[in-house]
Amino acid sequence: LRRRIIRAEKMEVVGHLAASISHEVRNPLTVSRGFMQLLLQSERMNYKDKQYIQIAIEEIDRAEAIITDYLTFAKPAPEHVEKLNVKTEIERVIDILRPLANMNSIEIQTSLLPFAVKGERQKFQQCLLNVMKNAIEAMPNGGTLRINVSIDKDYVLIHIGDTGVGMTKEQIERLGEPYFTTKGTKGTGLGMMVVYRIVETMRGDLFIHSEVGQGTDVYMYFPSYYKTDVEKFSRKNEKASQSR
Ligand code: ADP
Ligand code: MG
Repeated sequence: LRRRIIRAEKMEVVGHLAASISHEVRNPLTVSRGFMQLLLQSERMNYKDKQYIQIAIEEIDRAEAIITDYLTFAKPAPEHVEKLNVKTEIERVIDILRPLANMNSIEIQTSLLPFAVKGERQKFQQCLLNVMKNAIEAMPNGGTLRINVSIDKDYVLIHIGDTGVGMTKEQIERLGEPYFTTKGTKGTGLGMMVVYRIVETMRGDLFIHSEVGQGTDVYMYFPSYYKTDVEKFSRKNEKASQSR
């Protein structure tokens, strides 16, 4: 028992570390990037020097992108499973992505309902962020990002649709494979891997429909909070009737 407690404490430290990475490492990255940007404008720099600086900036952007895909919502406090209102969580993520959407002239249309699912808030938000960010990045010349919430039997269905570049069958198949990206140095190829992992831990499911040049629809199913409770309730009853 003692060993288990120590391990739980260690896990907590890992959680703290993750949070520090995103909060404390982002700042120095931003500062370093700023100074390099200044150097790029300096007249004393020759062409070769500027090329080196450009590479350094790209590498910083890469580190920043990896932190974004993993740790956007990491907080110093340990996470716990709780009841999450999908409408509230989606709205939070939209707020974060709105500047990026505006930059790409993307209209965001929503039809959200306050259904409840069970999960860890930071992970759920990270999952939504990674899917929505991909949708926005698929529309560099503008378009529409649609987000709908509905209920399908015992599942809450979150539909995220874009009118972007779309994907080929081969690309859809490779989705979630670590480091698979079509965005060159700008991509990490980690976003969808994180999404699949989170959906799995929440006992959800994910389907993708995509057509090249038309856009992509991502359908994410999460067990309804009340359904999971009902299940637990009936399981308890089963046990009770068996022991009778
Ligand atoms: P990254 O975004 O860093 O490339 P992801 O794991 O998030 O990594 O996505 C992997 C790849 O899947 C992307 O590079 C892109 O080719 C494809 N993809 C994901 N979502 C979409 C989308 N909504 N529309 C078009 N392509 C997408
Ligand atoms: Mg991505």
